[in-house]
Amino acid sequence: MGKKAAFEPAQRLKELPPYVFAEIEAKKKELEAKGVEIIDLGRGDPDLPTPPHIVERLKDALQEPGYNRYPSYVGITEFRRAAARWYNKRFGVTLDPETQVISLIGSKEGVSHAPMAYVDEGDIALFPDPCFPIFYTAILFAKAQPFAMPLLEENDFLPDLGKIPPQVAERAKLLSLNYPNNPTTGVATKDFFREVVRFAKKHHLMVLQDLAYSEIFYDGHYVPSILEVDGAMDVAIESHSLSKTYNMAGWRIGFAVGNAELIRYLSLVKTNIDVGIFEPIQMAGVAALEGDQSGVEELRRIYQRRRDILVAGLRQAGLEFRVPLATFYLWVRVPAGYTSASFADHLLEKAGIMVTPGHGFGKAGEGYVRFAFTSPAEALQEAARRLAKLYGGGT
Ligand SMILES: *Cc1c(COP(=O)(O)O)cnc(C)c1O
Repeated sequence: MGKKAAFEPAQRLKELPPYVFAEIEAKKKELEAKGVEIIDLGRGDPDLPTPPHIVERLKDALQEPGYNRYPSYVGITEFRRAAARWYNKRFGVTLDPETQVISLIGSKEGVSHAPMAYVDEGDIALFPDPCFPIFYTAILFAKAQPFAMPLLEENDFLPDLGKIPPQVAERAKLLSLNYPNNPTTGVATKDFFREVVRFAKKHHLMVLQDLAYSEIFYDGHYVPSILEVDGAMDVAIESHSLSKTYNMAGWRIGFAVGNAELIRYLSLVKTNIDVGIFEPIQMAGVAALEGDQSGVEELRRIYQRRRDILVAGLRQAGLEFRVPLATFYLWVRVPAGYTSASFADHLLEKAGIMVTPGHGFGKAGEGYVRFAFTSPAEALQEAARRLAKLYGGGT
């Protein structure tokens, strides 16, 4: 123990990776101050409104007495039942709402608390690289040892489990995944999930799969749940979210399902550091999961149109990428001679287009930038025009 230093943050904050997005945010502000109109394709933040029947349910719920009291920790029964029924309808997976479902303030809560619930100091936790940053920081916060599984294009952005050294697999207690994937847009097959379950059973580890983008798919692509696979219920939980499916990111509601013991450990974390979700929001969540789903189809139609506009624009500019079957991103290779950072700068300075540099999601994200299409079609058309002007039909 050294001398006490006043006002020093905790070591775990000091160990956080530098926030690469702050720099590009600052540049955006600088350009905007000069009058440049920036098209922000950086953030993946659903821009469309929450369907009105969900908002109405919230308003009604506010008329009911008792909403001011502390809510139940694991979520009201109606919401957990609705989540179980939704899983059954969508994936054919049967869940016990009492033991295999917990409500969460978004999928992010599941991802961030899983290491606290499952791993100890010194244990290894396997995480995808690149990833939504919380996958990595949650492991650091739990003082466990992160071990990156690179998601490479030549492997369809799936981790190569065979490349995990046996001595690492032996010490690993947790393996986290996110399919459909942010930022790579990779999708998982049931065969891949079977392989994950086999690997987890062989090495006695737990699996957390983040299914936040399950309903944002295109061209009739089928997005599976890991729980569809035999034996998954023995080793896995899946976290899910209403943020993307129902444009409810600001509402903070999601849930996790799967192995009852793993759900119980997660609920122990929640019980100790938090209470439950505001009950009227859970009731609105029931309306979302059980009500009219035509809004979800409409949402896919809108995103698909946006995707196609951006795909056409980027192709014309000669950029290389895979057309995504799911999520609202394009994961684009940077042209020769650029890094993720320099290409993101170039697009910002020369075309007023803001994207997210891939290295901000992890080492294996270097060489890519991420475009989000959570902006209206007109903005994407304008982005395509600016790219055409910049590249005149080829990089
Ligand atoms: C958007 C997103 C989520 C959603 O998080 P919530 O906490 O449910 O809003 C989860 N995981 C990934 C990878 C995401 O991109």
